[in-house]
Amino acid sequence: MSDSMVSIVIPVYNEEESVPVLYKAIKNAMDDAGVGYEIIFVDDGSKDNTFSILSEIQKGDGKVVVISFRRNFGQTAAMSAGFDYAKGDVIVTMDADLQNDPKDIPRLVEKAKDYDVVSGWRKNRKDPFFSRRLPSMMANWLISKVTGVYLHDYGCTLKAYRKEVVKNIKLYGEMHRFIPAIASWVGASFTEEVVEHHPRRFGKSKYGISRTVRVILDLITVKFLQSFSTRPIHAFGTPGLVLGGTGFLISLYLSYDKLILGHQIGNRPLLLLSALFIILGAQLVVMGLLGEMLARIYHESQGKPIYIVKKVLR
Ligand code: UDP
Ligand code: MG
Repeated sequence: MSDSMVSIVIPVYNEEESVPVLYKAIKNAMDDAGVGYEIIFVDDGSKDNTFSILSEIQKGDGKVVVISFRRNFGQTAAMSAGFDYAKGDVIVTMDADLQNDPKDIPRLVEKAKDYDVVSGWRKNRKDPFFSRRLPSMMANWLISKVTGVYLHDYGCTLKAYRKEVVKNIKLYGEMHRFIPAIASWVGASFTEEVVEHHPRRFGKSKYGISRTVRVILDLITVKFLQSFSTRPIHAFGTPGLVLGGTGFLISLYLSYDKLILGHQIGNRPLLLLSALFIILGAQLVVMGLLGEMLARIYHESQGKPIYIVKKVLR
């Protein structure tokens, strides 16, 4: 793979002690591998000396690119910036805190010849069990089930992507954890590779347990976009019709009771229920219609196609 090139994208936030060690480790690993590479450090608005250390490194090494954010935009934004500037055919992402091991990079890159996404798997993970590994195991199971992309370790940042994959997707919020699932929308192929994992040596994790809630919300977004982004009326309209229809049937029955049998219906709970169902049903259908209009605006104004062509023979 002499003429291909690897871009290593690393979001960095307040990691002044780790960065020099990390840089040396990457250099060792990559210089031995005999593959062309660049290292893109994205300084996500660090408040410590990270930026000055990075700029020193950059001065001494033409393979290093440093992108510095004006403020802290988050790991996902930092990764996106790295993808935008990356020149490689294969793009590798990793953490800056030395928890991922650069020695694994050449193996991932080799596998990326045959697969669009090579997902690192921290099989022997060095994080606390109850606060980190257990929630992560549940998250991986849930994300795999819901998205249909079965991976052991969504949370591992060390992954390799063929450039077509990352150049074709847009990331928002904290969606970097879902890149493989999003990549499956563009028809990517997957494999996993077991990678090393080390305990954090310097500084502390930038995330707490509240991340769990955000992962669940992001998963709902990913699932919705995956299934319904070009047909929101199906997502909202289906429950809308079921609720509205049920409400209508109940109201028919109540009308019969009142008009034909002559019973009082003013004090019946069913009356309230049918009114609730009809209103909710109508609202859901209207929401679906609004969604349809938004989908058209999104896809047409952005020139976003609703399909992705692999090849055309003619
Ligand atoms: N990071 C970042 N911006 C942020 C938070 C984190 O660029 O707002 C970087 C951080 O410097 C590290 C990586 O993202 O390189 C993963 O963060 P961390 O190690 O704190 O996460 P954990 O390993 O605990 O999941
Ligand atoms: Mg970490």
